[in-house]
Amino acid sequence: MIDFGYTPMPITVHNMDKADLSLAKWLAERDETFNHCISCGSCAATCTAGKFTDFSFRELTHSIRRGEISKAFSESEKCMLCGKCILVCPRNVNTRNIVMLIRKANQIFKP
Ligand code: SF4
Ligand code: SF4
Repeated sequence: MIDFGYTPMPITVHNMDKADLSLAKWLAERDETFNHCISCGSCAATCTAGKFTDFSFRELTHSIRRGEISKAFSESEKCMLCGKCILVCPRNVNTRNIVMLIRKANQIFKP
């Protein structure tokens, strides 16, 4: 097996008709750059928290778009808010603000 330096994610199936996209909508209403992400992975490649944990802003956005809200809330706590990802993002996604909004949503969305 050739080592390409990365591991493909396992195949998963998501029923988007049943996905809870309320957090994605809530975020986009407050910071439209959430919708500008093209999942290039530059943020994850340079992430400070990613050096110490399995955190990835790119994966965080995927979780939100799949409706995995609880996972997004817990993952957002791993971000160190250093802002390096903002410097490398080709789409000017306001990553740090989006992480802060997710943390805020974690308080608001609680029953
Ligand atoms: S660098 Fe920007 S466009 Fe690329 S995955 Fe991260 S947030 Fe999305
Ligand atoms: S602000 Fe958060 S997501 Fe961005 S590089 Fe720093 S630790 Fe990673």
